[in-house]
Amino acid sequence: MSRNFVKIVLMLLRQPIPCDLLSHPLLDQKQVALQVLRLDQVHPEVSGNKFFKLRYNLQEALDQNHQQVLTFGGAYSNHIYATAAAAKEVGLAAVGIIRGESLDSKNPTLNFAKSAGMRLIGVSRTQYREKSQPAFLELMRQKFGNFYLIPEGGTNTFAIQGAREILSSSQSDSSHVLVPIGTGGTFAGIAASIFSHQKLLGISALKGEGIRDEITKLLRAESIQTNGSIELVTQYHQGGYAKWTAELISFIHWFWEKFDIPLDPIYTGKMAFACWDLLKKNHFPPGSRILMVHTGGLQGNRGFTQRTGIVLPTPVL
Ligand SMILES: *Cc1c(COP(=O)(O)O)cnc(C)c1O
Repeated sequence: MSRNFVKIVLMLLRQPIPCDLLSHPLLDQKQVALQVLRLDQVHPEVSGNKFFKLRYNLQEALDQNHQQVLTFGGAYSNHIYATAAAAKEVGLAAVGIIRGESLDSKNPTLNFAKSAGMRLIGVSRTQYREKSQPAFLELMRQKFGNFYLIPEGGTNTFAIQGAREILSSSQSDSSHVLVPIGTGGTFAGIAASIFSHQKLLGISALKGEGIRDEITKLLRAESIQTNGSIELVTQYHQGGYAKWTAELISFIHWFWEKFDIPLDPIYTGKMAFACWDLLKKNHFPPGSRILMVHTGGLQGNRGFTQRTGIVLPTPVL
């Protein structure tokens, strides 16, 4: 398959990407404009930042004449879900190595991946830790045949190349750009594409300060120098990765009622929560034009409800 084929097949559903301007008395009072870039709406299944992170990886897999991709993730992973859908769309087979030995037959993420044709294998946590070792990958090659490897979370040079395309020139009038951080691949791509008058705030979904070193290493490894300024915000993790608080859940409901925008509790909810809190604390000077990048992740809301019994606003796709 040719390079162009992927470009045509894994295509943005809507161009330009929808961008919502929010209206609220607090925004008027602080003299701040707030917009949300709806990456959750770029594609029905390959949603959010994963669309951009997968795009050039799949193109590379096809250019290298691979028939299949192999990747890793947790049982509710947005990356697994999106990879299953994207691989199917461009005609590649897919294997998903899932953390946790027994695959729950009620897990909506895994059931979707399976229905998209992804072959799933559950591995123990110990084995999962060794998943990037040559010995494990060789074992997978023997089992499934040759594959193009997409790392856990999907972050590599091709992913960052894709993430550079998230902000288009139409977003150049914003002064602040906010994005959630997992591995930091999306942050790195956006950091590479902002203008000198822009500030990028990465809201970490993980507990701790370790992400600072991770991001520094990633930017160095990818030779990314930003034209704008960057800031890491580490105090809104709500207990850690995939952890949540009642305050976060009520914020997600409040945000949906006020603005009609669904959020997920792992990434975008924490980012929007941080944004609103920073707004209250006058972090953004009057005249600021903030752009929140909604990175998607809404498929995970079904799994969240299944695990916790807590219903979240989720649009029917
Ligand atoms: C994967 C994901 C992220 C994290 O992206 P990184 O590039 O790993 O930092 C953020 N938001 C959502 C919704 C995601 O699914």
